[in-house]
Amino acid sequence: MISIAEKEFENVFTQTFEGDDSGDRTPRQTPGKLYSKAVPTPVAAPRLVGWSTDLAEKLEINYPSPAEVEILAGNKITSSMNPYAACYAGHQFGNWAGQLGDGRAITLGEWGSKNGIFELQLKGAGPTAYSRHADGRAVLRSSVREYLMSEAMHHLGVPTTRALALVSTGDKVLRDMFYNGNPEYEPGAIVTRVAPSFLRFGNFELLAAQRETEKLRKLVDWTIDRFFPQFMEEEDRILKWFQEVVEKTAFLMSEWQRVGFVHGVMNTDNMSILGLTIDYGPFSFLDNYDHNFTPNTTDLPGRRYAFGNQPSIGYWNLGRLANALSLLFEETEGLENVLESYEKIFWDHYYGMMSRKLGFEKVGKQEKELNSRFEKVLSVIQPDMTIFYRLLADVPPEVNPQAIKDHFRNSFYQDLSPNQEDLFTTLITDYSKMRKNNNLSEEATRDLMNRTNPRIILRNYLLHQAIEELEKGEDELFLRLQEAMAQSYAPSGFDDFIKKRPSWAETKAGCSMLSCSS
Ligand code: AMP
Ligand code: MG
Repeated sequence: MISIAEKEFENVFTQTFEGDDSGDRTPRQTPGKLYSKAVPTPVAAPRLVGWSTDLAEKLEINYPSPAEVEILAGNKITSSMNPYAACYAGHQFGNWAGQLGDGRAITLGEWGSKNGIFELQLKGAGPTAYSRHADGRAVLRSSVREYLMSEAMHHLGVPTTRALALVSTGDKVLRDMFYNGNPEYEPGAIVTRVAPSFLRFGNFELLAAQRETEKLRKLVDWTIDRFFPQFMEEEDRILKWFQEVVEKTAFLMSEWQRVGFVHGVMNTDNMSILGLTIDYGPFSFLDNYDHNFTPNTTDLPGRRYAFGNQPSIGYWNLGRLANALSLLFEETEGLENVLESYEKIFWDHYYGMMSRKLGFEKVGKQEKELNSRFEKVLSVIQPDMTIFYRLLADVPPEVNPQAIKDHFRNSFYQDLSPNQEDLFTTLITDYSKMRKNNNLSEEATRDLMNRTNPRIILRNYLLHQAIEELEKGEDELFLRLQEAMAQSYAPSGFDDFIKKRPSWAETKAGCSMLSCSS
């Protein structure tokens, strides 16, 4: 184990690519540059609020002393760090947005460990050349959400960036949370984020838009060499690599559907080239099973980023990446073929995953048909997704309609109409018949389901309560949530976290819908 103050950081990214080394943080365009140097801006009174022991062990990093917390707050940098903000572009809500970049995230350097090399990044550490009109800061509420949720996703088994530390800054940050002209001061915070790389589709789109062909080629080669070395010696390595990005993105989309995660802002600048969940903003888990649900108030008119749209948006975003990469090809047929392989890859992952949710290893015609029926009926009944699937694992054999209703009652948000009851009980009756013929034993079936369907998820209303308490200086709920999230599939414990969304939370800001203001 080593202290963050003593560690020799590597700076391969800044040594490899051309950046703007002036250190100037005036908002501006930086054509042809892949980053701009940016030293974090000091804060008044840093306090360590959260620390991920699990990740710290993986990185072989010590629990921080007060002097080391100063580093996590951006008040101090060590001599081996070369802090920078990456420059990238992106498509936001379907439209080209031009240069964006890390407006409030600053990478300190690369941390080598026996488990690999990781970028350490402070989110909310002050302005950079890419802050545009904003302040480079993050509020406590959004930082708590990213800190807890990225670690929760990791424990759910979903690919994600991670969070090592959460520090409150002691400074106030002005935010118009409801975009209604009533800004208020809120406590500020900084999250130390960790990932092998924070490269996004948008990093590649930026260079393509600038017609920087050689820089784009170099970034692609570097990405392959460092993160996909298995393709480096292949002659058509770019296509092979793009195929792998398609594969990873399709898998990620299927994983989000498995646990009911809605990202909320799937712009191409928020799409990781490594297929990780990245940039946690107005995300939410599904409470009631609703394909149309979007947690992002900005997304409301079109619901572009609603739960059920995520897989097709993944494809659309890959299309933007393919378009950027086309600069490196004389003809685009190969790229197009790879892009078109997304659909089959996604559905293969999806049907396999959905079968496992129902307790089947097989993914035949019968299972697929059953899956589709489940989706249709659940969309009508809209039970609590998480509670429903855990109850499904324990559905009694030889079940009658009344017993079915009683068994699942706790997952319903409202009484079912006679028609809905009929739909539902018929489905469950057919399901239990199919389950009797399953090649797995009852015990193995339940086991498979309980490994696929989490029992505990980080519900927005729980996050909201933990944030309210933290703002009052109490961290009990926050710490309990952190502990519970590491046990998402455990058969028991933390019963108070597996309740449906309470009615008070239905319309309350931060409990169901969120704005991007963070
Ligand atoms: P997001 O959709 O939250 O990932 O952010 C979109 C863009 O806005 C990114 O370039 C962010 O760095 C930038 N951004 C968001 N919030 C801030 C902020 N408070 N200060 C500076 N830049 C920000
Ligand atoms: Mg972003």
